[in-house]
Amino acid sequence: MAENRMVHFVGAGPGAEDLITLRGAKLLEEADCIIYAGSLVNPKLLLRAKESCVIYNSATMTLEEVLDVMVEQYALGHRTVRLHTGDPSMYGAIREQMDALEEKGIPYDVTPGVSSVFGAAAALNAEFTLPGVSQTLILTRMAGRTPVPEAEALEKLAASGASMAIFLSAGLLKEVEEALCKGAFTKDSPAAIVYKATWPEEKTLYCTVGTLAMAAEREGVKSTALIFAGDFLTATPERSKLYDPEFTTGFRTGKGNENA
Ligand code: SAH
Repeated sequence: MAENRMVHFVGAGPGAEDLITLRGAKLLEEADCIIYAGSLVNPKLLLRAKESCVIYNSATMTLEEVLDVMVEQYALGHRTVRLHTGDPSMYGAIREQMDALEEKGIPYDVTPGVSSVFGAAAALNAEFTLPGVSQTLILTRMAGRTPVPEAEALEKLAASGASMAIFLSAGLLKEVEEALCKGAFTKDSPAAIVYKATWPEEKTLYCTVGTLAMAAEREGVKSTALIFAGDFLTATPERSKLYDPEFTTGFRTGKGNENA
């Protein structure tokens, strides 16, 4: 019989239970043990677990406790799913778990998920990369209890004027406003807050960089929100080259270029 005991890191998606990948859903159905990040993962996903599956909420556990469960389940010949919110590669704290598993000789793999940044973009009907507006999206956070390397301070990243998506900072909005304004933004630059993207209680707030803190306070948003800034929120872009009738691509010859 194939050896299938291992640890699967799985991205749960941003919230809505049908935004997990097909692969992630199958792994949940086959798991003998699920350790889920209870602060942000939709508990409805756990309904996929088989009856015998043991379930742990990592919100109340330390790294050591999580690893102890993984080791114990592996020794039993079991499959563990470690379920992280959104995509595990963004602020998922998976590297420390993977390093420890490697040391212990326990095999693991990673199944990606839809990050909340893309769940929130869908809620805003937004495109981050508009021709003539911005071709870059910066995913970052404000320095908080976890410091940010000096060279990546929000005000420095904001100097480019690229589209900004700021995680983990809903409680630091005055600081966010200030940092963005030290960069390429002004108080009047377009901004938005998406609270609990793709959950039933989702809220989208459009505001300006100078009114981020006020808008969040008015709507009672304190956490589980993404902050956006950039002209992508309001600008009318140039039309894309890709779908321009004049433009030749590897799949289509542009008008007037038929012999090219
Ligand atoms: N790995 C996750 C991010 C985890 S860090 C991902 O890819 O989405 C936790 C932060 O993510 C929160 O502070 C918030 O900024 C953001 N977040 C997570 N889920 C969210 C949601 N449904 N709506 C808005 N922001 C969310």
